[in-house]
Amino acid sequence: MTYKSIILLSGGLDSLICLGLCKDEYNVELALTFDYGQKSAGKEIEASKKISEYYNVSHKVIKLDWLKEITNTALVSDKELPHGIDNPEESAKAVWVPNRNALFLNIAGSYADSENFTHIILGANKEEGETFPDNTKEFAQRAEALFEYSTLNKPHVLVPLINYDKNDIVNLALKYSMPLELVQSCYSEGEKHCGICESCTRLKNALINNGDTHYIKVLFEN
Ligand SMILES: [Zn+2]
Repeated sequence: MTYKSIILLSGGLDSLICLGLCKDEYNVELALTFDYGQKSAGKEIEASKKISEYYNVSHKVIKLDWLKEITNTALVSDKELPHGIDNPEESAKAVWVPNRNALFLNIAGSYADSENFTHIILGANKEEGETFPDNTKEFAQRAEALFEYSTLNKPHVLVPLINYDKNDIVNLALKYSMPLELVQSCYSEGEKHCGICESCTRLKNALINNGDTHYIKVLFEN
């Protein structure tokens, strides 16, 4: 069977590494980036575009303007973004977007069904799976089960990082010399990574734990 895959690409650490890991083995041809009015949308689109060019895959941006209107998340509103990772439950609530990953997967499912993609790749990982239920293996399995009924070609949902935490993921990136300088993991809209939001904190800690100093400078220091 010949594989042909779609990746959900936010431009963040997890989706970049997923693409790097799966590009050849799963023949990734299309990257989808979603703009639902999140503060970091502009930076995510730019990063995803560069990452797609780097790995030579087509890139599509999908606008979901209505999603911004029905969510209270700090990702789109004036509310302050949660700092650090000491309060994962609180933090998860503050950045929760209703049904987001299921929505993204289902949109990818439409592309898969229409253009005969065999796999949809999602950057769900162990660390975030502990606080976000839509970042778990169970979620991916159920989404795949849904496609057995909602699509004709029944694409698989692939979560290559599901057993990895951020330390492992950064370790893979360094080991395989993936272009971490292209990553956009920050929740806020500033030019550089803020270094204090939940997502930045996870990335920075993982870089420190892997003994990196280069990317900390590139991503976090002005
Ligand atoms: Zn940040």
